[in-house]
Amino acid sequence: MAKLYYENDANPSLVRSRKVAVIGYGSQGHAHALNLHDSGIDVRVGLRPESSSRAKAEAAGLRVAGVAEAAAEADLIMILLPDTEQAAVYQAEIAPHLAKGDAVFFAHGFNIRFGLITPPPGVDVAMVAPKGPGHLVRRTYTEGGGVPSLIAVSADASGQAMALALSYADALGATRAGVLETTFAEETETDLFGEQVVLCGGLTALVMAGFETLVEAGYQPESAYFECLHELKLIVDLMYEQGIAGMRFSVSDTAEYGDLTRGPRIIDDRVRAEMRRILEEIKDGSFATEWVAEDRAGRPRFNELRAAGRSHPIESVGAELRSMMPFVTAGRQRLEDISGG
Ligand code: NAD
Ligand code: MG
Repeated sequence: MAKLYYENDANPSLVRSRKVAVIGYGSQGHAHALNLHDSGIDVRVGLRPESSSRAKAEAAGLRVAGVAEAAAEADLIMILLPDTEQAAVYQAEIAPHLAKGDAVFFAHGFNIRFGLITPPPGVDVAMVAPKGPGHLVRRTYTEGGGVPSLIAVSADASGQAMALALSYADALGATRAGVLETTFAEETETDLFGEQVVLCGGLTALVMAGFETLVEAGYQPESAYFECLHELKLIVDLMYEQGIAGMRFSVSDTAEYGDLTRGPRIIDDRVRAEMRRILEEIKDGSFATEWVAEDRAGRPRFNELRAAGRSHPIESVGAELRSMMPFVTAGRQRLEDISGG
């Protein structure tokens, strides 16, 4: 049975007795630093001297230091840099300042799971991973809520690592929503699988293939856009609120019959076999090795594929249609206002 923790399960004094360094001030970094600060935690933000985030963090009332200086001062270091940058920054500026009794925290297990970072013995290693973008982590906190999060421990030197992680999750607001205990391996592998197969990779490929099929058959691109992309939000909202059965209850019987009989022809045995291959590439480390090498080489394939995606007709058709539907982008504007851009 899964272990879920809420506010009453956390001991707020554990993280309150720590000096916390939040390294990075991006999507997650700004939310962690601000939420912890507002929860009365002693926080400093570790940034590069030339970082453009420095002024923003200071304007928000946070103390900013260099990465090494913040790591040296703190006894709990939350690393919120891009996953591809973490190992180099850790080696140069964090590892030299780790002492027995310190804790190193992550919001994603990638670097620990694939052995890119190996903290020394005597140091607690834990994860507090919100299941949502940083802007939501900040906004829900200010509204009195929280974002559900995963916690895990990969090294428990103090014997208190899990309790400390839960205390941190509490200061972040996550225990208001629910904190699920997991492992670095499970979080990392399911997160990569989810984004590759379902949430990002599978979904975007499905939408684009549907759009292309309709356009190639001579239908107006605008019709194809509405059908294959715009309406997706309505369906996903229903699934999010009521599950798949609830969504099916809300659509017409014709839509439901088509769903039940045609869906399995799209996601067939070949697709399922490919899903298992992708999971295997994640588990055996070959995806991680490929991505780290791509990043070190300056991301040639990544940039090429990204550019091709951006110049796909679905983008120009979509931009035109969305410009006539200001209500569609209104929510996004609000997030940007709250995060300060
Ligand atoms: P981000 O790209 O939004 O922010 C990274 C920050 O690090 C920025 O402030 C950037 O200026 C700084 N930075 C980059 N390179 C640096 C360097 N070499 N030295 C010092 N600072 C540097 O990253 P993010 O999306 O907040 O991700 C941080 C961590 O949180 C990752 O482990 C990620 O997997 C995890 N995570 C992200 C999300 C999300 O929705 N964004 C959700 C859950 C977990
Ligand atoms: Mg994820």
